This record gives sequence, C-alpha cells and structure tokens, in this order.
Amino acid sequence: MQKHLECLTNEIKDILVKTMNTLKSMLCLSTLILMTAAMAAEDSVEGVLIFEYGDTFDATQAPHQNFYLQTEKAIIKLDASAAFKSRLPIDAWSGKRVSVKFKNQLATNLGRSIQAIELIEGEAMRGGGISGPQKWVSFLCKFNDVATEPENEAYFDNMYANTPAGLDHYWREVSYNNANVAGSVAFDWVDLPGTHTSYVPTPGSGTDADLNLLFDDCTDTAISTYGGLDINDDFVGINMMFNESLDCCAWGGGRYTSLDGGPSKLWRVTWNPPWAFRSIGVIAHEMGHGFGLPHANNSDGDSNPYDSPWDVMSSATGYAVNDGVYGRLGKHINMEFKQRLEWVTDGDGFIADENTDNEEVFINYSSRPTTMVNGVRFARIPASNNTYYMVEVRKAEGNYESNIVDTAVIIHNVANCRSEPPWVVDGDTPAADYADTEGVLWRTGEVFVDPIDDFSVTILNEFENGFTVNLSASQDLINRSTFENTGCL
Ligand SMILES: [Zn+2]
Repeated sequence: MQKHLECLTNEIKDILVKTMNTLKSMLCLSTLILMTAAMAAEDSVEGVLIFEYGDTFDATQAPHQNFYLQTEKAIIKLDASAAFKSRLPIDAWSGKRVSVKFKNQLATNLGRSIQAIELIEGEAMRGGGISGPQKWVSFLCKFNDVATEPENEAYFDNMYANTPAGLDHYWREVSYNNANVAGSVAFDWVDLPGTHTSYVPTPGSGTDADLNLLFDDCTDTAISTYGGLDINDDFVGINMMFNESLDCCAWGGGRYTSLDGGPSKLWRVTWNPPWAFRSIGVIAHEMGHGFGLPHANNSDGDSNPYDSPWDVMSSATGYAVNDGVYGRLGKHINMEFKQRLEWVTDGDGFIADENTDNEEVFINYSSRPTTMVNGVRFARIPASNNTYYMVEVRKAEGNYESNIVDTAVIIHNVANCRSEPPWVVDGDTPAADYADTEGVLWRTGEVFVDPIDDFSVTILNEFENGFTVNLSASQDLINRSTFENTGCL
C-alpha cells in the first residue's frame, strides 16, 4: 500500500511537473509572441541623430565612436556596424531628424541594431556651415570625492581669449574670420552629486564613462549654481572640464536636449579630463567634433586616425606650437573640412575639370588671413572613382603653424564614403606610419601623378605668399559628369 501510494505520488508529481512545463512553455511562447508582436508593431522610431568621438590620441589605437537616437522619451544607443560607419559619412547627419527602423532583436550593451536609417523629409543632407559668433560655455565639474582643482577659473576663461593661443583667436584664424567664439565664458568649479567611480567605473581605460550622466549632472549643477547664466542666450556649445580622468578618452560630439527650460536643440558638447585641457589643441579637436567634423587621416591604411600631423582633426598635438600656459596649440585643418564648414567655397579654389590641361595656378598659403593675387586657396581635382584631390600649401609660420613639418604643397585624397574622408597623400610606398616624411611634402620640382587618372600636379615655384603649380591631365582622362563635391552623399 505504501509503495502504491508512493507510486501514485510520483505519478502525480510527474503529471504536475509536465503540466508546469507545458504551462511554462506556453507562457514563454505567448511572451515571445507578444514581444515579437510589439517589436513588429514598432515600425520605425523618429528622433535626432547625435554622435560622440572618444579620443586617446594614441597612434596605435582606433578612435571610439558612439551614435545615439535622441527621442522625446529616451536616448537610444545605436549599434552601428563597421560597414555602415565606413560607407556613409553618418556624422554629417549629426543633429538631424532621422527615422530609424530597428532590427527585430533586443538591444545588447552595444546598443540597438539598425535595420535602416533615413533623413526625415526636409532635412538637408549635410550640416551646413559654421559662421559668426559661436558662444561656448565651460563648466568645471568636480567629482565629489576628488578635491583637486587642476586649474582655476581664470585659466578656463582666458582659454577663450582673442589673443594668440586663445580659442577665439584660433578659430578666427582657421576659419578666415568666418567664425569666432566671442562671448564664450567659464564658470568656477562645482561639485557633482556623485563620486568619481560612480561616473567612471574604470578611470583611465575602457569606454565606460557615463557620458549621459556626466552631461546631465554637470550641466544641471552648474546651471543651478550660476543662476545668472542664461544658457539659452545664444550659447551653442558646452565644454565640460573634469578634475580627474574619464575612461580612455576625451570626447567630443553633441547632445539634443532642453536645458534650463529652453527649447530642445543640438548642443555641441565636449567631455575633457585634465590631460585634455592642458593641451588646448586637444580642446580644439574636441570642439571640431562638436562642430560636426570627423577625423582626418594619413594614407597608411591602419585603423588609427591620429597619424597626420597636418591637421588638428588628426594628430592634434603633433608638430604643434607649444605654449607656456596652454600646452600644444591647435593647427589648421585641411581645406576639405574648411569647405564643409563653409569657411572656403568653390570661389576660393581652382576647380579642375575635363578642360584643365597645362594650367598654371597660384595657391596661397593656408595660414594667411587674406589671399593675394588670385584669391585661390586650393585646387580641387576630381577623379573618376568619385574621390577627389584637394591641393593646398602649408607654410611653417605664425601662431599655429610655425612648428609644422615644413613648408610645402600638401595633397589630400578625399573620399566621402569613408569614416575619415581626407587622407593626406604619401608619394612613398608603403605610406609612412606617421605623415611627417618626405613622401608627404611636395616640393619645388616634384611631380605628383594621381594613381587614379594620371592627372599631374607639378610644383613650380615657391613665393612669399604661396606656390605655383601646374595642373595637367593625362591623355584619355575619364571625366565623370556626375562628379559633385558632395561625393557619395
Ligand atoms: Zn577625435
């Protein structure tokens, strides 16, 4: 009887377990169906695309790049594939309204996978220019368990000066007086509500700094501490200075949000640890990301973009002028980026076409505030593979360029379908790891022959205000009537 009862009990147990399992799997299935239905019902999500770059400036490391979709309710991290990033200069859509269709899968810690992304009707393909006063504010934010104030308020205030080394002076020179940061100010140190590791779990490495929380807490604390600050009065950008290291990097990009009750808008934003604000060239680089610029690069084909000393948007501090107070100063940026920001136009260049042959062109030095002779700052040569060359002339002189490698003609190949569109051309094979070698410097008597169409640039003479070059087509030049400066976009 006992045995029989036991058997019965086991049978009941078995039935019960089976029932439970069936119920469980039914529940799982229905949950899955519900989830799938919910995900399928989520057609596409509209919001504003924003991005941020994380820079180590270590010439052995790749940059970090994050994309987000900012909706009214949330900030959604996007898991963009390497192919997606490299094919489309997606940073040109920073701050633009987009519609994102997500893949039917749950988010990982890398973000949500994108099925498709498109600009909402009416948005321009590119971000447009940067002109006139661009007021930035520096907020100095201390982790509440770190007492150090690495520099005082005056240091950060004077960082915006319109005197050599100052950012206002710098951006005026680089933009040919098209843009400035007049009116920018710094506010004294405030205490963040959290400790260092509550924002940055592994200081000095990785990418785990909570940039969103740092932005929210730093801006909220500073704005509430300094009641007289009207952040919505024409300010466009926020440089956040922190009193300890972040993760790997200093960061630059944007946030789309409302601050202090003002209208939602795209803020140009940087996150800077002490090593960043001790070289003002690094701040210029991060502000460049804030203005919407990606990286420039050399031609060695490796994954790190910090190896062209010709550009503040590449090796920010390499061959830079050293200042006793502000460290390495910014250099100029390449002509392609100046054209993106509308600091030069086609009217400032010689635009080669199918009729260009044996043409002598005088090109003014990049660093000059005004042009002499013909007003030409660059020559652009279209190539049949839908890339193009930008020919410019750099002179080792002045407040920001006097320490560059040497005075010479410098040529960039620009492909708008890669993540760093301009690559400085290197005549040597293989291209040098760091673009400070002779192959990059085009000197009097040398000839650059473009490997795509055999178009040639012969360096003729060096003058007080620039160089003359001869531009010649080879025979059988393939002319792409579809060529446009906007490239693949
Ligand atoms: Zn960068």
